[in-house]
Amino acid sequence: MRKVLTILLSIWTLAVTAEPIPEGSDLPSFGFDPTSVTREADLGHLREMNFEETVLSETETLRIVRIVSRWMDECLGLSVRNRIDIRLLPIMEPSGASKETSSPTLGAFEKSSTGGALTIRRGLSRRRMIQVVAHEWTHVWQAENCPSDQDLLIHEGFAQWVTENLLETLGLMEDLNALRTREDFYGEAYRWAAECEKANGREGLIEYVRKAR
Ligand SMILES: [Zn+2]
Repeated sequence: MRKVLTILLSIWTLAVTAEPIPEGSDLPSFGFDPTSVTREADLGHLREMNFEETVLSETETLRIVRIVSRWMDECLGLSVRNRIDIRLLPIMEPSGASKETSSPTLGAFEKSSTGGALTIRRGLSRRRMIQVVAHEWTHVWQAENCPSDQDLLIHEGFAQWVTENLLETLGLMEDLNALRTREDFYGEAYRWAAECEKANGREGLIEYVRKAR
């Protein structure tokens, strides 16, 4: 069942269901080469920013992707080689304005033969966008480094574990506690990863995730 779900979606939303992603060609998009990230993309810059501010521009979105991907590379050893197409979903309608019953997609990653497409919702608060980028960039790394039919608990749990590490580093305690105590599948998956780290250490967890199906 979980493997069926893996095929259906590697999408992170706040609920179980997700809206379909619009056709990529209709969305504003730009390429990102993770091997080109410079030392200016430092996590220290993120700490100085207003976390409540809404992120609207492509420039600011790309800046967050650069900072988060460099942090993952340097602090966790999760490096990505392929060029990734970044697409921005339109701003969400205010809650109540939409008659949709499913939760809106905040981020998603679709693998392709050359790299893949990372879709991010425009207009999220910076604190939310940081989490979406950390989660989805983990899926970018997994696409290059892990079995494609990996169990969804491992796949999503590791993405949540990376996000948790970033929230802890940034001192975003409220979001950190929310992530750790979620009662849905993502919460269960995170707690699996946390237990695995406790038993095997950080390196042990990462090595396990590289190979496990
Ligand atoms: Zn995910």
